[in-house]
Amino acid sequence: MAWIVPISARVLTVQIALTTIADWGLLLLAGNLQDYDRSGQSLALIKGYTTMAHFDWIVLGAGITGLPLAYELQKVGQRVLLLDKVLAPVNATAYGYGGVPYWSGTTPLLQQLCRESRALLGTLAQELDGATEYRELDLLLYLQAGDDPQGLEQNFRACLTPPTLLDQATVLALEPQLNPAIITGALTVPHGHIHPIKTLQAYRQAFLRLGGEIKLATVQRFLHQGDTLTGVVTSRATYAAPNIVVCAGADSRALLSRIGVDLPLYFSQALVLQTPPLAQRLAPLVMPARFARLALEAQASSLDWSTPTDTVQAEVLEAGAIQFLDGHYLLGQISQLVTHPAYQPDPIASEQRLRAAIAQVLPNLANVPAQLHHCRVAFASPNPLVGQVKTRPGLYLFTGFSSPFCYSLPLARHFAQAVTTGHDAIFTTLNQQLQALDAKQ
Ligand SMILES: Cc1cc2nc3c(=O)[nH]c(=O)nc-3n(C[C@H](O)[C@H](O)[C@H](O)COP(=O)(O)OP(=O)(O)OC[C@H]3O[C@@H](n4cnc5c(N)ncnc54)[C@H](O)[C@@H]3O)c2cc1C
Repeated sequence: MAWIVPISARVLTVQIALTTIADWGLLLLAGNLQDYDRSGQSLALIKGYTTMAHFDWIVLGAGITGLPLAYELQKVGQRVLLLDKVLAPVNATAYGYGGVPYWSGTTPLLQQLCRESRALLGTLAQELDGATEYRELDLLLYLQAGDDPQGLEQNFRACLTPPTLLDQATVLALEPQLNPAIITGALTVPHGHIHPIKTLQAYRQAFLRLGGEIKLATVQRFLHQGDTLTGVVTSRATYAAPNIVVCAGADSRALLSRIGVDLPLYFSQALVLQTPPLAQRLAPLVMPARFARLALEAQASSLDWSTPTDTVQAEVLEAGAIQFLDGHYLLGQISQLVTHPAYQPDPIASEQRLRAAIAQVLPNLANVPAQLHHCRVAFASPNPLVGQVKTRPGLYLFTGFSSPFCYSLPLARHFAQAVTTGHDAIFTTLNQQLQALDAKQ
């Protein structure tokens, strides 16, 4: 298979041995993987610069896309360097509900990934030797006055396991915290759930045990020779590898634009309340049956992302809630289309609006102690963007997932399978989709 070439790091060293990196006037010499500048001085002596040429892959970003991929690549014998700009997760993964919609696949490819996701999660904690808090719960997609129950049910008919319609009495018996004055019924389906941060920790520890390396550093730009990527420049050091995979969530777009890669990869601004552990018990994961966020995301391609602004171009508020095993809740969520990466929403107004919306659906939770969090969430259309960017040899993408807690875990395995065997049918399909988009640039 032509698209993915697992070049070994030693080959890379030979390839770049005679390459002048003009920006810095550095010459990397092969040999015992020692790095020298033109005068023969060890680069380690040059403050702030380190070159490391013994990695096969650099994985950029340690969220729920990057960590599983780094782990799976290391597991199949690749030498992987994982880079992230923060130690403790303050990323989209940290504030995600952790829902695994393995019922939701609507195409044979997605349905296969859903089945794989469910099987994989059943044994993941054991494999990683770390807690994921994986469990199955009911997803309640609630209906309100004005909703068309049969029409909404139809929307899900093509899913692997279509949710079933429940009347109001059954829904309230299932979850007594729901507001009988607002909730008229629900669609329900068994839904997976994991603890996002614990799952990241489990992947991180397993990755390190396998010999993977993690560095805390902000990737500022890519090194390249012509169109071919050869490494990354971070705030602390320079790292070389023949294969670089971008899993940087909402920052992926800006990073890629620095090397002229313009793909339909966007981000939304998300606001969510996080509570401490509470005595009130909520059994299901509660969300509206109308997925307003999909309509929001569909507007992204019509925005001018090249001149970012602080203006809220569109937004939706989907009142929902999930309680974790330790009793804490995430109560969400406002999603906004704002193109400026440094946009800061008004925290007071946002919290008031979230609480007002929660009061309608789950009145007992409206005034609980909680802290507002803001993060940016990557999405792509069509999603996800997985595979090689053919116009930039050495560059791979693994980003833009709509339901990464479901799809990124099995897909990381397919990616690694493609690297080791040169063939993987699912990966080939996604890679072809990416290359078709890349060709349109
Ligand atoms: C309220 C809410 C609920 C959600 N619920 C669900 C759900 O139930 N199920 C589901 O599947 N999804 C859900 N999501 C979406 C999901 O959480 C995100 O899509 C997902 O976590 C994104 O993962 P990621 O790895 O792409 O990005 P991130 O988690 O943002 O990770 C990207 C990482 O890259 C690092 N990075 C970025 N730029 C650089 C750089 N230049 N140098 C070094 N490191 C860098 C960042 O520090 C970050 O750690 C939810 C999201 C929200 C906000």
